[in-house]
Amino acid sequence: MRLTDDRYSGERRQFELALRMIRHEARTRTIRECTGLSDDRIRKLYATYFRDSGNSAVKRRRGKSPRQVTRFVKTPDNQLQATTLVALFCAGLLVRIDREDRVHACWPRPDVEFGHRLCRAYETYLLLHENAKLSFEWTWNLLKCISYNDELYLAQCRGCDARYVQDAYALDHRICPACSLELPGKACPRPPGLAAH
Ligand SMILES: [Zn+2]
Repeated sequence: MRLTDDRYSGERRQFELALRMIRHEARTRTIRECTGLSDDRIRKLYATYFRDSGNSAVKRRRGKSPRQVTRFVKTPDNQLQATTLVALFCAGLLVRIDREDRVHACWPRPDVEFGHRLCRAYETYLLLHENAKLSFEWTWNLLKCISYNDELYLAQCRGCDARYVQDAYALDHRICPACSLELPGKACPRPPGLAAH
């Protein structure tokens, strides 16, 4: 019976994650990657729990995930929010930041645990930023982009030493978004991985 129990609890976690991600309006493809459920089962879940239940606030997204790094650095506010997310990825052990501020992905490929951690990071971000600029899909993209250390990197502020998300192809004035917004008490998030060395 043990095997059946394990399989049941495994399936339950898959379904819980799918529902959690549908609530965040994740794309079918993203849900499939994390849960391992087929498109058909994801569609049925959506139909059962959202479309047919009169819960029309949740939209289902199709197609590919959006992907332009400028979204993360467009304004100091966007930049601050992206930096918050990277700090939360770090706190959730989705990424590790080394002494040279390079970001390393800690999850070789998406799975159910990864999906739940990503949801937790996104939900915490929504609690911290009233006017959230980044959707769940943008969050997922940020995690990928920052792990490549290619178009995005962590720059260091010359005013307060905090790290912040920066566009590798933009001119960097070395001023973090919190300093440029002159936020009281420097609201720049600083988990252990992002602290000044
Ligand atoms: Zn600063």
